[in-house]
Amino acid sequence: MSAPIYNRIALIGLGLIASSMAHAIRRGGLASEITGYARSAETRDTARRINLCDRVCDTAAEAAQDADLVVLCVPVGAMDAVMADIAPVLKPGATVSDVGSVKRHVIDAVQPHIPEGVHFVPAHPLAGTEHSGPEAGFAELYDNRWCLLVPVEGSDRAPVDHLRQLWEGMGANVDEMDADHHDLVLAVTSHAPHLIAYTMVGVADDLRRVTDSEVIKYSAAGFRDFTRIAASDPTMWRDVFLTNKDATLEILGRFTEELFALQRAIRTGDGEHLHQYFTRTRAIRRGIIEAGQDTAAPNFGRETKS
Ligand code: NAP
Repeated sequence: MSAPIYNRIALIGLGLIASSMAHAIRRGGLASEITGYARSAETRDTARRINLCDRVCDTAAEAAQDADLVVLCVPVGAMDAVMADIAPVLKPGATVSDVGSVKRHVIDAVQPHIPEGVHFVPAHPLAGTEHSGPEAGFAELYDNRWCLLVPVEGSDRAPVDHLRQLWEGMGANVDEMDADHHDLVLAVTSHAPHLIAYTMVGVADDLRRVTDSEVIKYSAAGFRDFTRIAASDPTMWRDVFLTNKDATLEILGRFTEELFALQRAIRTGDGEHLHQYFTRTRAIRRGIIEAGQDTAAPNFGRETKS
């Protein structure tokens, strides 16, 4: 345990990301007090029952009052309204951050509400699971994962460094990135792959020649991996695609071109093209494992986990 990095941290939204933050903050002794707020009484009751925060409040403003750091952990499309709610109660010198999967849209939605004397440091932890809600969180979610800070133009250095310390205290590696670059990188590494997984699972569902039970019974690793990704929260992902439109469409355009090229290689029997392509993609997988961002265990180590 280290000395607290912030006195009071407020988590607005108490889903997977916020609850994992609460556990990691407590594990590291990184705050003297954690307050929390969720939209529904049901989620607030669950958070109270599992003792997720020191105080679960009935309004976002109550949770944010007197907080040194307020982290917006709601879907990207809800950031604007939540920020408008809490803006009047923020204390001078406080920092507002967020964990949204898209950065340009969140900055445009949140920054106009930031009062004079309050800092805004957008962030995005590159960690998650397909589960949602306050009971989905765990302290290790951010261990050795990246958290990208996306400082807004002209922001002070001290609040950015302060937030960096918090994420490092929660186990993450921290990097800084410009918002537009972030949105393009994430379109490649996360947003387009999610859309492809959603599509593949939808196609299997539509394919009347393969019955539902066959899809489930014979689902091999490839399809099972798609179903895991396609089980991700519908609200969160709807908002990601609606707010990272340009970058996602650009990557999907390129994806479609590559798919046509592979389709053509299959039709014309161009085995050389297919082999070269798959050799190149295999090397990318090795690079991810060497960078410590996944396990080399067969079947993603799935069989060894409880
Ligand atoms: P989650 O588990 O679904 O939790 C979302 C929380 O936001 C819930 O407490 C929910 O309250 C609240 N909420 C939803 N709509 C709201 C609204 N309109 N106004 C106020 N509160 C609202 O979501 P999550 O996975 O933690 O994601 C939260 C944020 O983290 C999103 O911006 C997402 O883009 C980002 N993120 C997610 C992942 C991931 O893999 N899951 C990874 C990195 C970043 P109720 O429960 O009461 O409805």
